[in-house]
Amino acid sequence: MDQPTPGVATDAAGGERDVYDVTVIGAGPTGLFAAFYAGLRGARTQIIDSLEEPGGALTAIYPEKYIYDVLGFPKILAKDFVERCLEQAHRGKPAMHLNEEVLELERLEDGTIRLGTSRGERFSKTVIVCAGVGAFEPKRLEAPGVRELEGRGVHYFAKRVEDFRGKDVVIVGGGDSAVDWAVTLEPLARSVTLIHRSKFRAHEATVRELEESSVALRYPGCEVVGVRADGDGRLAEVTYKDATGAETVAPAQELIVAIGFVADLGPLKTWGFELQRNQIVVDPITMATGVPGVFGAGDIVAYPAKFKLIATGGAEAVTAVNHAVTFYDPKARLDAGHSTTIMEKQEKAAARPSAAAAAERVAVPAD
Ligand SMILES: Cc1cc2nc3c(=O)[nH]c(=O)nc-3n(C[C@H](O)[C@H](O)[C@H](O)COP(=O)(O)OP(=O)(O)OC[C@H]3O[C@@H](n4cnc5c(N)ncnc54)[C@H](O)[C@@H]3O)c2cc1C
Repeated sequence: MDQPTPGVATDAAGGERDVYDVTVIGAGPTGLFAAFYAGLRGARTQIIDSLEEPGGALTAIYPEKYIYDVLGFPKILAKDFVERCLEQAHRGKPAMHLNEEVLELERLEDGTIRLGTSRGERFSKTVIVCAGVGAFEPKRLEAPGVRELEGRGVHYFAKRVEDFRGKDVVIVGGGDSAVDWAVTLEPLARSVTLIHRSKFRAHEATVRELEESSVALRYPGCEVVGVRADGDGRLAEVTYKDATGAETVAPAQELIVAIGFVADLGPLKTWGFELQRNQIVVDPITMATGVPGVFGAGDIVAYPAKFKLIATGGAEAVTAVNHAVTFYDPKARLDAGHSTTIMEKQEKAAARPSAAAAAERVAVPAD
């Protein structure tokens, strides 16, 4: 998903660069809420995440676990909560840049913040760092040939169930995601083989469902040792070995690898922040970091009595956004009031004919 919103500024050298009001680094629950709230405040916003899917830790670590302590949901699956966060974020109409890691952050002479990313450069008047424990990346399967077939049969995020209809699918992993995909695809794929090194760690009920299904279970002690492509350079076969070392070749047009994620705080350590145990020290009143125009929220920030919870991340996001808005627009109010009032005003403004349109109507001569 990559939907940049148009809007271009000219830099001192005469080149064009697209400068956003607010850039949110991280599309976990905190970043998604920050993006929504920035939109509510009228900020032109972009959000960047290294993962292919939004949701941060909820997507990468515990999509199938229930959450009980977020406002308004007595009990909700993490992946369902992410859906709601995303729906809310989209109200703010942010440009979403997924599968993109922010590697550098630098303040230019004119105060604009330049972000060097794995895909190029992005510019912003302010930045809100909602980076959790760092940039999440799926753990790669190291068997020879697998990396070359990424996107050509090898997936780290399976998206559309329909893409697997009638195919031979091999899934690697033993956690919730792997087991969930095996059970979901079994009714429509031609065959599903699940390969895992040890015992399944997924939800008990799903593991029972798996054991009663036609999924070919290859565990414990089984692992992929190679892949083969067809003449078009797409995945055709997967070779795996069992605990005795014996190798089997399985036909596979699709391979889903769900063996977990690693987080990397690496680049962020060089952006000039004061760090405390891998967290950015912020002013708890404003959520400002030591770098002018850069704020923080969520699990990445440190201040006295910080709680690493989704609910507190949301509150910090509001504080960070309000201070970011007054940073790039000192005339703006710090507290814009309740969303009920802000939305009412926005809806009335949208319904009101613009001055230009009204002038045009006046200018139309009567017959
Ligand atoms: C097993 C488990 C269960 C939990 N249960 C609960 C619970 O019941 N209730 C609760 O309130 N909390 C719970 N938590 C904690 C909760 O998940 C975190 O507080 C929450 O995820 C923090 O959100 P965040 O948006 O700040 O960070 P994250 O969710 O970690 O998201 C950060 C995002 O930033 C991205 N990112 C980081 N660096 C970069 C970069 N340089 N470039 C691009 N992208 C970057 C990452 O890829 C990631 O997507 C649980 C945590 C775990 C591990």
